[in-house]
Amino acid sequence: MTHDCPLCREDGGALIWRGARLRVIRADEAGFPAFYRVVWNAHAAEFSDLTVAERQHCMDAVAVVEQVLREHLVPTKVNLAALGNMVPHLHWHVIARFGWDSHFPAPVWASPIRQRSPERESALEVLRPPLHAAIAHRLRKLVERRPT
Ligand SMILES: [Zn+2]
Repeated sequence: MTHDCPLCREDGGALIWRGARLRVIRADEAGFPAFYRVVWNAHAAEFSDLTVAERQHCMDAVAVVEQVLREHLVPTKVNLAALGNMVPHLHWHVIARFGWDSHFPAPVWASPIRQRSPERESALEVLRPPLHAAIAHRLRKLVERRPT
């Protein structure tokens, strides 16, 4: 626990699922309707601060989120990234990307290259409840298979 760390203080977004070691949140990032983060619960700055088993669990969770995004949203691509330059508390970005999104094929952190599509963004937003239920269900199963 680090007092000035926002990911130690709060979830960091809309909580989708929380386990003993990590949580999944949806980030409210304008223009990106399927922007998720897998956040390690304990304060760790770097991925290599985790044990081998912890790293495995973390990446299994990232893969679960990616797989569910693919099944429910059929994105053009899923982007995975762990930067932590702004908030050095381990979190993986899992972002469903679409050929029509304002930045594609550039990273979400680059400058936009086209107008946003509110209609297409809205069409994805209505798919969120079953998507979130599926993420929670699969992560529960993941933890049951390999208890903490
Ligand atoms: Zn922290």
